[in-house]
Amino acid sequence: MSALIIDGNATAEKIRVQLETEIVQLRERGCHPRLEVILVGDDPAAQSYVAMKQKDCERIGILGQTTRLGTETSEEELLALIDRFNHDASVHGILVQLPLPHQISEEKVIAAISPDKDVDGFHPVNVGRMVAGVDCFLPCTPAGIQALLVEYKIDPKGKHVVVVGRSTIVGKPFAIMMMQKKPWANATVTVCHTGSGDLKPYTQQADILVAAVGRPALISAEMIKPGAVVIDVGVNRIEDSSAKRGYRLVGDVDFAAVHKVASAITPVPGGVGPMTRAFLLKNTVKSAKKFLKLD
Ligand code: NAP
Repeated sequence: MSALIIDGNATAEKIRVQLETEIVQLRERGCHPRLEVILVGDDPAAQSYVAMKQKDCERIGILGQTTRLGTETSEEELLALIDRFNHDASVHGILVQLPLPHQISEEKVIAAISPDKDVDGFHPVNVGRMVAGVDCFLPCTPAGIQALLVEYKIDPKGKHVVVVGRSTIVGKPFAIMMMQKKPWANATVTVCHTGSGDLKPYTQQADILVAAVGRPALISAEMIKPGAVVIDVGVNRIEDSSAKRGYRLVGDVDFAAVHKVASAITPVPGGVGPMTRAFLLKNTVKSAKKFLKLD
């Protein structure tokens, strides 16, 4: 057996095309969706994420602007900038790129962003609304995974979804989304982490397995039930002297072995990553629509 490859690039492109149309309509009504990204410090990975976000915005007609602040920026300065964007009616989305330098509390910064402009879906108000199952900004990676399931008609209803990893940005929110009594959810959910011990007894029961860990090839073929759907969220750099940059990106799943056992699988790159990026754009447009009371 060889698994169906779930194409995140193609699915994300469909979302962007749909958003482009919505943005044209919004602009005709005098509303130009605008995302403000704040980058503090000079972490190379963060810089490249921010550059990608800005490029994504420009491609589909969102006004994407980045404010770059020095590593020594104080918490007060950052909070003041967020406050300014909170009160600027032309700003629909605010994103502070994480991680932040040690002198700045991530918790305070996330809580300072207006929940109405929190397009990352990290603010406690949006987290609470997500848990309650009411309208909110869903965090981009879990929302992107759910959209992939929708696109490929893989309905989690009644299935056993096993999530490895319980981060606040991926594992935990995805588990909560999957347990909701809602369409494209309504699954039985198990969450594994470093306290779970041997993962195999859990992962072998998964109809849908989501790996969000950050450990290359943690998930091997023996850990998969034949025919399971495997979603690989992990993005890990491994050295590769044959690659131009000296490294390549791999997921948390041993793709070469697992794709022979699974019925469908996301590749890395080209699986979940593009969906995360597309959902940031989708959340920004959602915010602009709310502003015009269209959502
Ligand atoms: P994180 O905050 O580091 O959380 C990792 C989780 O994995 C933790 O819950 C940890 O358990 C668990 N874990 C670590 N080692 C484990 C092991 N050996 N067995 C079982 N559980 C283990 O990571 P994250 O932010 O969720 O990111 C996870 C991966 O996804 C990373 O590679 C990241 O780069 C990638 N990512 C990709 C996207 C995308 O768009 N494709 C988006 C976000 C993240 P404890 O809680 O017990 O410590």
